[in-house]
Amino acid sequence: MLLLALGEEYLTKDEAVRLFFKNGERVVEHAIRLDDAARRLVEKAYGSSVAPDQTVIVGTKEDRVVAYAMIVSEITKTLPMTFIVGVDPAGTVIEVAVMRHEEHIGTDCAKRRFLRQFDGKRPTDRLRMGTSYQPVSGATLSCNAVARGTRKVLAIIQHHFLDRPDHVKALLQEEPIRRQRYIMGSICTITAYGDRAAVEKAFDAIQSVDAALSNYRDDSDLARLHRDRSIQAKPELLAFVSGSLAFSERTEGAFDITTGPLVRLWGFHDGKHRVPSDEEIAAALARVGWRKIRVEKDTVTLPEGVELDPGAIGKGIGVDRAAEALKNAGIARALVDFGSSARAIGEWTLGIRDPFDTDRILGHVTLRDESISTSGGYEKFFEQDGRRYAHILNPQTGRPVEGVASVSVITPTATESDALSTAAFVLQRIPDKVEGLLVPEKGEPVVTDGWKRRFREEKK
Ligand code: AMP
Ligand code: MG
Repeated sequence: MLLLALGEEYLTKDEAVRLFFKNGERVVEHAIRLDDAARRLVEKAYGSSVAPDQTVIVGTKEDRVVAYAMIVSEITKTLPMTFIVGVDPAGTVIEVAVMRHEEHIGTDCAKRRFLRQFDGKRPTDRLRMGTSYQPVSGATLSCNAVARGTRKVLAIIQHHFLDRPDHVKALLQEEPIRRQRYIMGSICTITAYGDRAAVEKAFDAIQSVDAALSNYRDDSDLARLHRDRSIQAKPELLAFVSGSLAFSERTEGAFDITTGPLVRLWGFHDGKHRVPSDEEIAAALARVGWRKIRVEKDTVTLPEGVELDPGAIGKGIGVDRAAEALKNAGIARALVDFGSSARAIGEWTLGIRDPFDTDRILGHVTLRDESISTSGGYEKFFEQDGRRYAHILNPQTGRPVEGVASVSVITPTATESDALSTAAFVLQRIPDKVEGLLVPEKGEPVVTDGWKRRFREEKK
């Protein structure tokens, strides 16, 4: 005799999904992340905390949504019950169906006779026991679990999709558009579920960062600062300078935009590389130090000899401006990829290059509304007398950093990840509160827990 009741499976996932979608419809599982506002509303409807990351199955046909469905698990007595809630494009319950019930009691709630009560319910119905539905006697906990999960699904569909036409629009687009531009000395690729005009605006935003910060044109605001030494800075330049100073403070000076004279001395700005003498390094170091920069209101002042190099943060700033432009245009899913820095709107998976064999990929990292930057010794370096000199300099010693092959960090914005990957390279460790991977020249790679969660290693 079977002593242990193992629960019961009523529907497989395929069978459950079939309740709401027909052959030939485009059905996609979307990983969504609730923003803070939506999450608060969902939690209010649900009555307790809700994870921001959710999966919604969406069926579309031509230019309209056919149905949404979510598979949810709720604890009944002590064990979970799993069920699917299908919702029509107006946000009304089509049907609730129990897929699996682990508890061996309370199973009557899996019957149509009970579940029928939820058909046609709306988020505003609130689904209270006694008024909105009658529980099956002896199965109250399970019945309430169905109501709770259904409230959650209705609230998610309402607040993430129906309140956000831009999110619905993104569901309908089959293929993203992909455009590339050569800006700031690199190719920038934007992939977006949205229209071309929005992508053009995003590139324009990067162009305007370049127009403000370029070290290679004499009409940029940065060039004007280098010439006049004290200027009223426009917002882009001001954001670059004050943002950079904050990163210097945070990284104990490992990140320092005043390394310009050193970059020049080692020939990294024009490729005419050479190893300078100790005296030359000392002379250049006298012109280095982020504390030499003065910012008062919108006026930036540089002492004579001090030079700013936006190379370690400029692309990150550009990526963020582009991402803002895309979001302002209502785009819910896009990737701005500048090679060494990228930002994901929605979920994207990116390859991480092997610093020892740049044709190879170490693995893939999945980002959701996050940014990643990589600083690699392999990007720009020269060799002399058997020694390798990479383009990232230690602002304390005035010399290229040795010992790190590459470092990648994940942060909310690309400005942050760009600055902090460079800083991590100098510090030879991942800064606090940042997820990342550091590959040393010798020895084993170092990863944070959050990196591990997002990373899938490539099989050798
Ligand atoms: P990234 O590839 O973002 O790590 O930036 C590296 C570039 O930033 C170099 O090519 C230099 O132009 C500049 N740089 C070098 N060392 C530093 C440093 N310690 N802090 C800030 N910028 C630096
Ligand atoms: Mg950087």
